[in-house]
Amino acid sequence: MSGIKRIVVTGGAGFLGSHLCERLVGEGHDVICVDNFFTSQKSNVAHLLDKPNFELVRHDVTHPLFLEVDEIYNMACPAAPGHYQFNPIKTMKTSVMGAINMLGLAKRCRAKVLQASTSEVYGDPEEHPQRETYRGCVNPVGPRACYDEGKRAAETLFVDYHRLNKVNVRIVRIFNTYGPRMHPYDGRVVSNFIRQALANEDITLFGDGSQTRSFCYRDDLCEGIVRMMNGSDDFIGPVNLGNQGEFTIRQLAELVIELTGAKSKIVERPLPADDPTRRRPDITLAKKHLDGWEPQTPLREGLEKTIAWFRTINLKDYRAPTPNY
Ligand code: NAD
Ligand code: UDP
Repeated sequence: MSGIKRIVVTGGAGFLGSHLCERLVGEGHDVICVDNFFTSQKSNVAHLLDKPNFELVRHDVTHPLFLEVDEIYNMACPAAPGHYQFNPIKTMKTSVMGAINMLGLAKRCRAKVLQASTSEVYGDPEEHPQRETYRGCVNPVGPRACYDEGKRAAETLFVDYHRLNKVNVRIVRIFNTYGPRMHPYDGRVVSNFIRQALANEDITLFGDGSQTRSFCYRDDLCEGIVRMMNGSDDFIGPVNLGNQGEFTIRQLAELVIELTGAKSKIVERPLPADDPTRRRPDITLAKKHLDGWEPQTPLREGLEKTIAWFRTINLKDYRAPTPNY
């Protein structure tokens, strides 16, 4: 195969997918972005539309897709709790049927396929930090189950297509990632706090803010994803990708207020059901197999870049998810 590959990015118009598309187009690959725009909009990839090696296809991954490709990054799935709980049945279908369709495409084309899995497969973890060997603590009937169990089922499909059909797969478990092009109304903590702070509105802390998360800047994450795709066929994962710095949500709120200079007050709101108490990745495996990969961007620096982007956008250009059955 020549150095130029034909690459599909599902969910390619989303926050992470659009950065992957940008990077892969920049490397000269022939990139096909597949998206149904449930949680994104064309503006995320508008700057790529006039490139001869970029193509945008409006398609829902719950339906089969016939293309000739060498690699597939399967990123399609609503990722923010508010978005994935909007239509939980559709979320489960996107993870499971999307995985089956992309694995089928990979099998037919003998393509390599990478699954964007999540730290949510660990649920509300009893092991801390989380290693890939930990099997998780997920409530199968709770409000987060449509996402967590859908992603767990997708991992199962990926390893079974690999074992049974020799499909060349990769699985990455992504921990909370943030940066420019997050949807300002996705309800995730970084986008919410920045949007609220820039409007000098109250910062909504769910619970007492003592729950923790580890925040990875999007460029660091995309670097890890691409290294995993290009890495050895002997290491298919799952592998954790995330930043090891762990912060309470209250610390994040205080940092956003400091960096924006906002006059906002922090107000406590009820903690959503099944909200994980602690989360931090053990990235020993990623460092070992992905050429020493580790995040380079401290939270303060990543937040400054993200805040700078949020200052440039017009909120009227963004809408909440459309009903998507
Ligand atoms: P996002 O919502 O910005 O992107 C998801 C994209 O998938 C959107 O463009 C959306 O329109 C598209 N999509 C949704 N359902 C689809 C369908 N049925 N068919 C076609 N397209 C569909 O979210 P993101 O943060 O960029 O997440 C990308 C992937 O990474 C997701 O699979 C998510 O589960 C995973 N992930 C992200 C994070 C994070 O912190 N950002 C953490 C863990 C896992
Ligand atoms: N959170 C919060 N205020 C908000 C949005 C989220 O305190 O306005 C909390 C949420 O309860 C959770 C953490 O921030 O404990 C991260 O939430 P997010 O939705 O970003 O991601 P996830 O829970 O999936 O890690």
